[in-house]
Amino acid sequence: MSTVLTAEDHVTLDERTIAEVVRFHGHMCPGLAMGLQASQIALREIGPNATDEQVVAVVETDMCAVDAIQFQTGCTFGKGNLIHRDWGKNAFTFFRRSDGRGIRLSLRPNAWQQDPEHRELFAKRRAGETTAAENERFLELHVAAARRVLEMAPEDLYEVVFVDAVLPPKARIHASVRCESCGEGTMETRIRRVGGRELCPPCFEAALAGL
Ligand SMILES: [Zn+2]
Ligand SMILES: [Zn+2]
Repeated sequence: MSTVLTAEDHVTLDERTIAEVVRFHGHMCPGLAMGLQASQIALREIGPNATDEQVVAVVETDMCAVDAIQFQTGCTFGKGNLIHRDWGKNAFTFFRRSDGRGIRLSLRPNAWQQDPEHRELFAKRRAGETTAAENERFLELHVAAARRVLEMAPEDLYEVVFVDAVLPPKARIHASVRCESCGEGTMETRIRRVGGRELCPPCFEAALAGL
């Protein structure tokens, strides 16, 4: 393992790209900005083009950042080259299948801090207690915070190390089997058997609960 980046590697994102990612995600926020920064590093170190699953992303969170990663790197849930490990960490690993090159990015613990006003309004907003004026102020601070994240050098935001690739298998196409309870087609690898019947996961759960 070694550090990949130096201060000279900072790449400025163009406004058009930022606008496209915001449209995809629905709003500008610090998490999305973190994902944009992570994507910039991934694109530079691992390369673009996740078509045909040539690049695989393993994300250890399911927060906003992942939308920027999907949009920018082309690693998507539907193609099977975006893998979610539900560990609640702002950490993202990218692998290239051609030569097994891999990097892991983890958010530095004190890399980014919300200012107190932003934090206070965030909590108030979540509780549904903000006035219209406070909401407006929150959004202003939220976007400003995202902008600050975008202005950071990537290496100040993320610790970046090379990792040995442990590549997940390519997505496979499985046959569909009809659940004998609800009748819906279900991927054969998800079918469960109980009492001689082939059931989809929710019908299997329901059958177990009824036993
Ligand atoms: Zn967001
Ligand atoms: Zn079923």
